[in-house]
Amino acid sequence: MEGIRSIRELTVEGKRVFVRVDFNVPLDEKGKVADDMRIVAALPTLRYLLECGAKVICASHLGRPKGKRDGKYSLQPVASVLATHLNQPVLFLEDCVGKNVEQTVANLSKGSIVLLENLRFHAEEEANEENFAKQLAALADVYVNDAFGTVHRAHASTAGMVPFVTEKAAGFLVEKELTFLRQKMDAPERPFCVVLGGAKVSDKIGVIEALLEKADQILLGGGMGYTFAAAQGHAVGKSLTEPDFIEFAKSLFEKAKVKGVDVRLPIDHVASDCVRFQSRTLGALKVFEGEIEDGWIGVDIGPKTIEMYTQCIRSAKTVFWNGPVGIFEIEASATGSKQIAQALAVCEGTTIVGGGDCIKAVKQSGCASDITFLSTGGGASLQLLEGKPLPGLEALKGK
Ligand code: AMP
Repeated sequence: MEGIRSIRELTVEGKRVFVRVDFNVPLDEKGKVADDMRIVAALPTLRYLLECGAKVICASHLGRPKGKRDGKYSLQPVASVLATHLNQPVLFLEDCVGKNVEQTVANLSKGSIVLLENLRFHAEEEANEENFAKQLAALADVYVNDAFGTVHRAHASTAGMVPFVTEKAAGFLVEKELTFLRQKMDAPERPFCVVLGGAKVSDKIGVIEALLEKADQILLGGGMGYTFAAAQGHAVGKSLTEPDFIEFAKSLFEKAKVKGVDVRLPIDHVASDCVRFQSRTLGALKVFEGEIEDGWIGVDIGPKTIEMYTQCIRSAKTVFWNGPVGIFEIEASATGSKQIAQALAVCEGTTIVGGGDCIKAVKQSGCASDITFLSTGGGASLQLLEGKPLPGLEALKGK
């Protein structure tokens, strides 16, 4: 990692080590941790620090509490899951800054660990407010970032506090993700096929442009596919589109032609006359080839597209997938995303899945162990692919 120290290079015995982890885990209706993948991903770093005799202070965000204390987003349920994995007590603190926190942290013994309450209960976290960053920094002798899922954000705990702590380093998860993604995506084995889905084109403009320089083939799907379909003059019914981005979509096809990149759009669609996000149900379903009739909403890629995309994925040497190709939260429109997951699983090349939604689709189709690399950072891996600096990593550089 250029210019970034690893925790192996630090002496942490007896020191207060602030570890920014990504414990943004899904909770079930009873408030229990529904999937502990992100907790498990942080264990190598936490175990190492504890074995070295550090006093470990874990901090994370959970969900979007909008800068206010909200019991729904408390990290308390995470503390007991973490304690079970570490096989030692994890003291949960009801805030992340303030007198009580400072006192408790000052009295920690070697090899013990605390978990702070949700950083985003303070609006200053996302605003990267300097005083708040200094308060966090005052808790620590050493700063470690092991939250790969948030390194693309310039928040107080990922960037703002770092210059105010004497020593800094990347944890094992950040190191593993960076090394793998850089190695596989800077000079990918070809053909390099990228499957890109998700809701909006506007969120992914930068990455799509960057991909024209890197990928051999781009398979589009999800809500953003309809803006591209509209740009090619196809009827898309009531599907999600962003009219302001149709010109961008048109120019992208032109550039792709010049660069020789094979950009594909779905050739058929599963559509519904009604999408009820609240109850996670759909109205009537119909498959359209090419044009979608008035009044219908595209909710998933159709069977012919699944077949075509599966063929493309199978013959690639490197595949990167980000963003579901349909409204995968609803069972009836999750088929496309599950089939894409299956196609990656049988591909003999290197397969990389980035982001929570796609990882969920991979797990639902029971093929997680057949994917080469599941990246815990969707946004971070896209930004890395785009070649843009990641604020959480920039902060770790230099002395
Ligand atoms: P993103 O965060 O950009 O990766 O987008 C993920 C979201 O895209 C998920 O919540 C999906 O439900 C949504 N999505 C995928 N396909 C569609 C579609 N056809 N119409 C509306 N939303 C979609």
